[in-house]
Amino acid sequence: MYCMKFEELRLNRPLLDAVRTAGYETPTPIQAEAIPYILEGKDVLAVAQTGTGKTAAFALPILHRLGDGRSPRPEQQGRRGSRKIRCLVLAPTRELAQQIMDSFKSYGRFCKTRQTVVYGGVNKHAQTRTLRAGVDVLVATPGRLLDHMADGNVSLDGVEMLVLDEADRMLDMGFLPDIRRILAKVPKRRQSLLLSATMPKPIRDLSRDILSNPVSVEVARVSSPAEAIEHFAYRVEKSEKSQLLCTLLENTPFTRALVFTRTKHGADKVVRNLTKAGIEAAAIHGNKSQNARTRALAAFRSGKTAVLVATDIAARGLDIENISHVINYDLTAEPETYVHRIGRTGRAGASGTALSFVSGEDRGSLRDIERLICTQLRPAGDLPGYVAPKVMFAELPHRPRSAAPRGTGGQRNRPRAGATNSARRRPGRGPRRARTAVAS
Ligand code: AMP
Repeated sequence: MYCMKFEELRLNRPLLDAVRTAGYETPTPIQAEAIPYILEGKDVLAVAQTGTGKTAAFALPILHRLGDGRSPRPEQQGRRGSRKIRCLVLAPTRELAQQIMDSFKSYGRFCKTRQTVVYGGVNKHAQTRTLRAGVDVLVATPGRLLDHMADGNVSLDGVEMLVLDEADRMLDMGFLPDIRRILAKVPKRRQSLLLSATMPKPIRDLSRDILSNPVSVEVARVSSPAEAIEHFAYRVEKSEKSQLLCTLLENTPFTRALVFTRTKHGADKVVRNLTKAGIEAAAIHGNKSQNARTRALAAFRSGKTAVLVATDIAARGLDIENISHVINYDLTAEPETYVHRIGRTGRAGASGTALSFVSGEDRGSLRDIERLICTQLRPAGDLPGYVAPKVMFAELPHRPRSAAPRGTGGQRNRPRAGATNSARRRPGRGPRRARTAVAS
């Protein structure tokens, strides 16, 4: 099979050296497709999920275009000779903004480009100082950028390149008015890139407003998550989820597990219950201070904490390697969110497992998810106190009267270690029961 080389993308030497230092051998599909267009100066509309290499797909050509260390042109000099911002990257969350910043730093390690990141939740003074000294690339969340604009710390009239990353999430989070206020201050003549994991109508409308003659690049449709991921589901009543999670984590070999809850309060509760059971876990969500979030992420990245509990918004765009299990403690009503969540595991061809807790009221959501990913979530295997159903729901309407009565817990199995995926390994075993419950 022919694999493109980074050299063929005509990136400059300092960038090729940085790519080699990062250990990348070949461009990912989105990089191979998007980089040439961005280098040509075209506007690009990219449908791409986290994990596809999308950040390098825009950061590398941007750094190339900014030049490797040449002085800014006179019209790019700001006040007191400081550099004017030439590239503005907007991202929905602090974590994603920081990750983008880290990527610019890493790919720009042999360039003289200056970059900084600003986001809320932390003190503004240090950000103000760096902004006033001048940077070429500014990565920002919309709210904090508007703050700095209002304070007169930043001027966008030198922006030549604009990136909106995870545009769908920015819209979900209600940033559209902020984005429009920011765009009003950016020169009309510029190159714009819009990246989004999904392409609902509001995104198509926004892209029409901000892109001119864009090239569309689509590498992995949101409906086709990485094939290396196995999808399993546990049929469980709401009140029994907490017990199931503890049992599951105690009986499943995993390297890192990312647990999703619907609410911030729910995330804290899960952490409390896990801690009580002696399982070290941390939560990240919008109510946590930036310091607490950074600490929790660092502990998870380093492997000190093996379980991270997150809300969708906080976890959006997180790039953490080696997440072996994504656990949907609360199933999401939006099937696209399921795809975003499980995109955290099975990265770069590694295998991963997505486990979902499904209660009766999630039945419709489950059907929507399965339809979107064109895959049925298989009933996961037995665990101590949990007996796997043969099917999640499909056969329920036709369930013979003699089947186990609803909600009784059916028969309980004896504790058995490492049983998570056993239903798959032991075809045909076990009683034919459609409903199960977890010991409380
Ligand atoms: P992203 O989709 O930008 O969040 O990137 C996902 C991960 O892929 C990051 O950890 C990158 O370091 C990594 N990555 C990006 N480009 C490449 C590449 N060409 N080869 C290998 N890994 C890459």
